[in-house]
Amino acid sequence: MITTLKSLALFVFLATLCLGLPGCARKNDQPAAAALPYPLDTCIVTGEKLDADSDMKSYTFTYEGQEIKLCCKGCLKDFEKEPAKYLAKLQQPEAAAPTP
Ligand SMILES: [Zn+2]
Repeated sequence: MITTLKSLALFVFLATLCLGLPGCARKNDQPAAAALPYPLDTCIVTGEKLDADSDMKSYTFTYEGQEIKLCCKGCLKDFEKEPAKYLAKLQQPEAAAPTP
C-alpha cells in the first residue's frame, strides 16, 4: 500500500513537472493545429512557385511549429541538410529580391 502511494505521488510529481516543460508537452499536442502558417507561395528550397492546382505533388510538413511547403518531397532532403538556412527565408520574405 505504501509502495502504491509512493508511485502515485511520483506519478503526480512527474506529471506536474512535465506540464511545466514545453518540450515534454509537445509530445502530446497536435503540431498541425499549433503550427504557424507558411507565409510564402513558393517552395522554401527551390523558390519555385507552388501551384495551388497541383497539390498532389507539393509537400507540406511542420518543422518546429512552423508549417513548411515544398514543391516536391525531394526538397525535404535539402531542407533537412540546412534547415536554418531555409528558415531564414521566412524571416525576410523576398526582401532583397529585385523587382523589375
Ligand atoms: Zn522540390
